Amino acid sequence: MMRATSTTHPQVISSEKAVARLLNLARQAQEQVPFYQKSFNGIDFTSPLTALTDLPFLTKDQVRAAQQDIVKQGMIDHPDTVLEYTSGSTGIPLKLVRSRTELMKGAKSLWRSRAQFFPDVMFTPGVQVSASELIQQEAKTDQTIILSAFDLRPDRVEQYLDQIDYHKPAWLRGHPAILAVLAEGMRRVNRRFTHKLVFVESNSGWLQDETRDLLAEMFDCPIANHYGTRETYTIAYECPHGTMHLQDDMVVAELHTREEGIGHELVVSSQIFETMPFIRYRVGDLVESGTGQCACGSSAPELRPFGGRSNELIEGTVLVGTYVFHVLVTKILKAGYDIMQYQVYQTGLDTFDVQLVLADPTSLQGIADRFVKEAASILPNASFSFQAVDHIEPTRGGKVQVFVKCL
Ligand SMILES: [Zn+2]
Repeated sequence: MMRATSTTHPQVISSEKAVARLLNLARQAQEQVPFYQKSFNGIDFTSPLTALTDLPFLTKDQVRAAQQDIVKQGMIDHPDTVLEYTSGSTGIPLKLVRSRTELMKGAKSLWRSRAQFFPDVMFTPGVQVSASELIQQEAKTDQTIILSAFDLRPDRVEQYLDQIDYHKPAWLRGHPAILAVLAEGMRRVNRRFTHKLVFVESNSGWLQDETRDLLAEMFDCPIANHYGTRETYTIAYECPHGTMHLQDDMVVAELHTREEGIGHELVVSSQIFETMPFIRYRVGDLVESGTGQCACGSSAPELRPFGGRSNELIEGTVLVGTYVFHVLVTKILKAGYDIMQYQVYQTGLDTFDVQLVLADPTSLQGIADRFVKEAASILPNASFSFQAVDHIEPTRGGKVQVFVKCL
């Protein structure tokens, strides 16, 4: 196997304690996980000279190819095991194998951050804003009320704003793309909440400046950015002073200098996932690190995701194109149609060209009708043209760019 090691010296911003915990986890992985038995072959974890940077990187493609070889032996069918999936909006979803104990550790760490910065939230109801079709009715888990909001028709917007107002939550949380749908809905029907929110937590996805500004304006409260990935959970959490603090009990973070462009590439390792270890994982995100102490009193280093582009937003809205079309296409797939690949071009303020790679080209008309019907709930003024194509060119990174703006 090719061993991809770093050619430059990365900046490891995690504490020595965190690195030591990770090396211990890596040693266990070398003993118990078939993938790491091979990739860590020859690495002597008993030697004090063995450093984190001696370990090879892990890529998404390797995780995908390794399948259950990257899971601790005996854990696939273990009763304590839980399966999760990455979103797959930019590729094939990864299947993640976790133990309930690990999930609990991840949840506790996130709650500690929330409680540290927003101490009043622990015992107050919060609303999780979701796009899931499965949650038609409100569902309640502990203190969190889950509401589905992915429909911008005015009657639907009024309805879910009424639901949120009824519960008088102290805080909201959700993926920034879906919080943007909610805020966009509030803007369109010109309505605000009737009570004061303590904060709104933007969960995991890239929070663009335009989106943050709209959320702060519509929700009229601080926005706390929670940065993480499905694979590693929380990486950093924003304090009320606007600093994204590294979650030093969850991950080990390395910043790698890029040959071109600004920002650093993040290589991240999970300190808690032993069942399916992510060690020196090239997550593909660009980050920056800060210096000095933060006025909030936390000594955890700063780690700020970096590099989102405003060309990801559908022109004339704050809606994230990739996300909106991912949800629309998922609805069409659930209706039984087969779409192998797709790409949406915005050609004017309300005009879009949709290219589709189809298993059965005769299904084009049916899919187009369904697409237009589903899109009406979120882009009511849009008109679409459809074209069946043989293939869609991937970008240099090998991914298909789902949404392309060419106004
Ligand atoms: Zn701070």
